[in-house]
Amino acid sequence: MVRVIMLSPPGAGKGTHGRWLARQTGAAHISSGDLLRAEVARGSGLGRQVAAYTARGDLVPDELIFAILVPAVVAAARDTGGYVLDGFPRTMPQALRAAEIGVELALASDAVIYLSAPEEELVSRLLDRARRDGRADDTLGVIRHRLAVFARETAPLAGYYRGRGILLELSTDRPEADVRADLRDWLQARGLLPSAAGGIQAVPRRTSASNAAED
Ligand code: ADP
Repeated sequence: MVRVIMLSPPGAGKGTHGRWLARQTGAAHISSGDLLRAEVARGSGLGRQVAAYTARGDLVPDELIFAILVPAVVAAARDTGGYVLDGFPRTMPQALRAAEIGVELALASDAVIYLSAPEEELVSRLLDRARRDGRADDTLGVIRHRLAVFARETAPLAGYYRGRGILLELSTDRPEADVRADLRDWLQARGLLPSAAGGIQAVPRRTSASNAAED
């Protein structure tokens, strides 16, 4: 069973490809952003604290992230045997703590997928998503800020995971089916995805811009 981290800037396709990977493998797809938005929608005290950060595009403090994420990851890993983490970890302290928990609970990650696309492509995908989904933090100013926060806080994690030999870097500035084929081949070569689970022929070709949508 796969235990994968999707480490990618906003708009690069981590939601789209993460959900695909979860469907292919039966691992739980855990999106930190979705869990945080659900907490905000519940209107809990925790949700109100979270909303103050997400609305601005700032990172939610690590203590709140761990309070929300760790139980979800542990439960998902117990139920499905694996996970696809979408949006977590996002800072070096989160990555180091996640690695400790991974060792303690025998849930260490097998692979980290770093998806990328040119900044203007990311912005245009997120503005498209804003028109469709109306997510509160998909306004131009907040999008630019989230991309800057990613570059400062999250991009350095790529070096950490590269050093551990588990990083795959893929450009998503091309058709989704091509990205998916590279992802599938890499995971299969490492024994993380059974050969039968590919199903690439069944996936209709879409433009890279349409990736954007569900990110
Ligand atoms: P995107 O990748 O498009 O920014 P997400 O849904 O992953 O969207 O995250 C939305 C917001 O939720 C982020 O801007 C941030 O405020 C918060 N968030 C999500 N994951 C984390 C995390 N691991 N640590 C801190 N904040 C987070």
